[in-house]
Amino acid sequence: MVEVGRTEGFAVDVDEIERAVGEVRAKLLFLTSPNNPTGNWLPDEALRRLLKLPVLVVLDEAYVEFADHPSRANWVLAHENLVVLRTFSKAAGIAGLRLGYGICPEWLMAVLWKFKQPYNVNVAATVAGLASLRHVDQIYAVVAKIKGERRRLLAALQQVPYLKPYESQANFILCGVVDRSAKELKLALERQGILVRHYNKPGLENCIRISVGRPEQTDRLLQALATLAG
Ligand SMILES: *Cc1c(COP(=O)(O)O)cnc(C)c1O
Repeated sequence: MVEVGRTEGFAVDVDEIERAVGEVRAKLLFLTSPNNPTGNWLPDEALRRLLKLPVLVVLDEAYVEFADHPSRANWVLAHENLVVLRTFSKAAGIAGLRLGYGICPEWLMAVLWKFKQPYNVNVAATVAGLASLRHVDQIYAVVAKIKGERRRLLAALQQVPYLKPYESQANFILCGVVDRSAKELKLALERQGILVRHYNKPGLENCIRISVGRPEQTDRLLQALATLAG
């Protein structure tokens, strides 16, 4: 496995992927759009270039319902080397029931059937998944509210002097923490009953990721961030 780092602003580094695929003769390329935890979108031009490579491209669309761009599910019809993965864990909100699906070119199914586990999706996940599909309008209504709240949260976070929030197409916002410890900030928020994710690794130095919640939860968070400003 070869990892290719993202460039400034977390863009997929297409040049570097092209080079790496040639060098190691990679067979599979995994991409995520919207990306977790950065929230950014993989642009059409970049995906088109990557689909020209001699690899099977697997595109993880776990957060696509929250994006202002359409899913690439129907690109599978036009690309023999594209697989799109989707999940009921995020927009449908049934994480833990383990229900998702892949949209694959037909040739790949013959391969997948060979090593498919004999057991199928469990009954609880099946019932919950069917209920989600019956109430898809309600799910999209909630998604629309979350997207509205994401706009409000981003604008508010941009006003916090010690945070550098990144625009997001997902249901969370990644923030660089400026001139103070992201870990300490995470712990300080935790003491006020607010849980955020903390990251500190190459490419994600001193960051927190905040999930978009209900308006009253945004208010609580903003209040807490203000008390921690001094
Ligand atoms: C949550 C998530 C998934 C899917 O999660 P499952 O619960 O296993 O369906 C896939 N990719 C990313 C990037 C995610 O954040």
